[in-house]
Amino acid sequence: LQPTTMETTVRRHRRIIMLPFPFQGHINPMLQLANLLYSKGFSITILHTNFNAPRISNYPHFTFKSILDNDPEKRRFELAEFSKDFIHNQDGGDALLHELGLLVASGLDENERVSCLITDSYWHFAQTVADRLNLPRLVLRTMGLFCTTVYSSIPLLDARGYFTLDDSHLEERVAEFPLLKVKDIKKIGIESGEVGYAVLIRHMVKQTKAASGVIWNSFKELEEPMLERISRDFPGPHFLIPFPKYYTASSSSLLEQDRTIFPWLDQQPAKSVVYVSFGSLSQVDEKQFLEIGHGLVNSKQRFLWVVRDGFVEDLTWFESLPVGFPGERGRVAQWAPQQEVLAHEATGAFWTHSGWNSTIESVCEGVPMICSAFRGDQPLDARYMSDVSGVAVYLENGLQRDEIARVIRRILVDEEGKEIRESAKLLKQKSDLSVMKGGSSDDSVESLVDYISSL
Ligand code: UDP
Repeated sequence: LQPTTMETTVRRHRRIIMLPFPFQGHINPMLQLANLLYSKGFSITILHTNFNAPRISNYPHFTFKSILDNDPEKRRFELAEFSKDFIHNQDGGDALLHELGLLVASGLDENERVSCLITDSYWHFAQTVADRLNLPRLVLRTMGLFCTTVYSSIPLLDARGYFTLDDSHLEERVAEFPLLKVKDIKKIGIESGEVGYAVLIRHMVKQTKAASGVIWNSFKELEEPMLERISRDFPGPHFLIPFPKYYTASSSSLLEQDRTIFPWLDQQPAKSVVYVSFGSLSQVDEKQFLEIGHGLVNSKQRFLWVVRDGFVEDLTWFESLPVGFPGERGRVAQWAPQQEVLAHEATGAFWTHSGWNSTIESVCEGVPMICSAFRGDQPLDARYMSDVSGVAVYLENGLQRDEIARVIRRILVDEEGKEIRESAKLLKQKSDLSVMKGGSSDDSVESLVDYISSL
């Protein structure tokens, strides 16, 4: 990694209070952003829940304060419960108001002041809190611009009946987003009406529009076709910064990373390994798990597969994998230092669940992708990477061993995959250029620093 932004020794006597959403894919970009802003002279306070608390010891230069779930009994709960307790509940807003009020009023150096609050877009109620305290709030949107344009159109898509279409329409194109098929829209996992995830997204969109600015883990050259629409839908200003170009996400990993994979990777030929990981939350059932295992073996290619604790919904699968699995060509790890794996010269492809962090990490390392998609933004990211960026094959028809084997060979070695491999290389070069002095991402960093300083 070669951050082009020089670390400053000048401190600005300005503090930024940041509130990540407590899941791996949200904590990583927030802490990457925090490191970047610290390197630019700002002091950083991270507010966090006890649930999925960040690794405080890796950030001695930040101040941490736990808020919202101070009940020690509640250290582990699921997203659904978390939403019920905090996201759709005014208590969350009240608790945040109380804590922030205290922080802003006291507890700071006398020659330091709070510039702004930066929260994850899902902490929508933070906007009302910030308004009451007269504190500017910037939003960190941890998903892509394309996904966000689709999300902001969910009420329209629902009104046009997309969420209730039957399966005979799955392959049809979506008139409002010709890039997408009906099945991509359905895969987001939204039910028709004002329920569940749709409510969260509606609040998120509304309060992102009300924010003083939006920071994206992206770069202009990657999502240029989306910029105009985003600027129209969200007043902004917008700052597109590819965080993996500046800091890896390793130091904010919630799980122990297996580093013993590196001696193994070091022994593999250049660009010969497909790295397989489906992020921190996705799950498969036993049948899908076996299709993946057999597909990897049948591809006759080298693979490094992350099988997280809890990745398979029920655990009777051990006997059913191919005999001798993973064999000499394969390696299984419970959790990996992903960005370092992607940057390793032995890695030739990434089979991902298309979470946005994984996607952008892969793009920044020039690794072509096989995109699976489970829910949320994933089908949208997968479609964009394959059809717009041309750096991926979208495995859009589920998990089936023969197709998996075929696609792995295509992306790693076959002539047919050459164009995708070349496009991935080119896109990496664009991301490299963007962080150089005068590049689009470098400009974004500088204007973000100026903007926050002006608040
Ligand atoms: N990650 C990791 N080790 C792994 C798998 C994933 O460190 O073995 C990190 C990955 O680098 C990324 C994050 O976990 O930063 C996953 O975020 P993403 O948005 O891709 O997916 P999510 O977990 O939110 O579904």
